[in-house]
Amino acid sequence: LRNEVGRMERLSLVGQMAASITHEIRNPMAVIRGFVQLIQERSESAQHDYFRIVMEELDRVNMIISDFLSLAQNRALTMEMGSLNDIIADMRPLLEADANLRGQTLLLELCEEMPPIMVNDREIKQLLLNLARNGMEAMDEKGILTIATVFEGGAIELRIADVGVGIPQEKMNKLFEPFFTTKTRGTGLGLPLCLSIAERHNGRIDAYSTEGEGTTFVVTFNVHMQEVRLAT
Ligand code: ADP
Ligand code: MG
Repeated sequence: LRNEVGRMERLSLVGQMAASITHEIRNPMAVIRGFVQLIQERSESAQHDYFRIVMEELDRVNMIISDFLSLAQNRALTMEMGSLNDIIADMRPLLEADANLRGQTLLLELCEEMPPIMVNDREIKQLLLNLARNGMEAMDEKGILTIATVFEGGAIELRIADVGVGIPQEKMNKLFEPFFTTKTRGTGLGLPLCLSIAERHNGRIDAYSTEGEGTTFVVTFNVHMQEVRLAT
């Protein structure tokens, strides 16, 4: 037991350090970005592309830092009883706007009889957003992203299905490795983050994919496991 406590303390120390380092990096980055923007406005138009690239790369560093921070913090969660359907409904406007910007369609298929589960609202939103964005990024215009909830055999499932490019078989076991990405602007931290969020909710994630047809990510929450956890 003593060892376990020590491990938890070290973990939270790492999380705290990550948070303060992140803060120290972000502040100068914001200053750099501000001045680059200022210089860009006064520069010759031939140079605008260079400045645009500098700013895009700064934004990318910022994105990596946010994702990394969420992953490193891994903090003891404040969990509350909540409804997966309500969380999805909250996120709907954001997801719809995102899909529409790409010319894509968002479909919701929510199971009506949904028992509440213990969730950290913010984290489940982050998980949903990451999986939905991945799905959209895998599709071209006219793609359809389907978000579904299912309650079956004591388990609650959140399914995110796209009709995008799919994932080659040999890449399937790399998906959850930190920094694995096939995108020029990717961080490779989205799925590792989703996995750690699912695990903190006593859940798991499975991926099903067919190249050229699409991909479905299934997050499974075990209602009974969650009750056991509540009781202890
Ligand atoms: P990122 O999105 O920054 O690349 P992720 O961890 O979210 O990082 O995803 C890792 C990789 O997994 C992606 O680069 C992509 O190759 C693959 N991937 C994830 N989701 C999908 C999807 N829905 N369809 C196809 N490939 C996917
Ligand atoms: Mg991603």
